[in-house]
Amino acid sequence: MSAKSILIVEDEQPIREMVGFALGRAGYELREAGDVTEAYEVMADRLPDLILLDWMLPGASGIEMARRLKKDELTQHIPIIMLTARGEEEDKVAGLDSGADDYITKPFSPRELLARIKAVLRRVAPEEEDETIAVDGLVLDPASHRVSANEEPLKIGPTEFRLLEFFMTHPERVYSREQLLDRVWGRSAYVEERTVDVHILRLRKALAPHEFDHMIQTVRGAGYRFSNRE
Ligand code: CA
Repeated sequence: MSAKSILIVEDEQPIREMVGFALGRAGYELREAGDVTEAYEVMADRLPDLILLDWMLPGASGIEMARRLKKDELTQHIPIIMLTARGEEEDKVAGLDSGADDYITKPFSPRELLARIKAVLRRVAPEEEDETIAVDGLVLDPASHRVSANEEPLKIGPTEFRLLEFFMTHPERVYSREQLLDRVWGRSAYVEERTVDVHILRLRKALAPHEFDHMIQTVRGAGYRFSNRE
């Protein structure tokens, strides 16, 4: 599994630095934004696994952003931890009302923050990681990293597995090569777009004996789509 990415939306530089240091040491990938507009710019590249969201921000507030995130189908699954100042008891209630999953009061220690992050990710992850995904006779089990076609085990490489997992959890949508690189390989990977084609080819080859290769569809001029329709 690649490192979980966490987005912090916070206008106070010292807090961002402290959090960045603590999360980096714990193996998370941190991305930063100073306000809501910047946060959406950062998220346009790739959605984070969790958002640390400051309550008081210049411009739109953290609460407004939390409400907006939870209303949008694309982002509503992302857990949010609100950062609040000491004594803002009413804010905490409003924060949780807005859809935040947890809150932490400033000043907080790195250890306290890491414990909260782990707890929230644990709460969210089980369904995400344990549930098998089935489309017709094609079954992918993220927990055991196994794929089967019509109950016969399929041998596929780790990249093909991740690619197939992404496709099966995002069906009926076209993704460009660039988007697939971001979402499957991760932004830090320096891979050419042609690499995507190579792995698509391998994936189709693995699925072909069971006649599932038509599910990985080329959309001319746009990219690739997973679908069980012709
Ligand atoms: Ca602030």
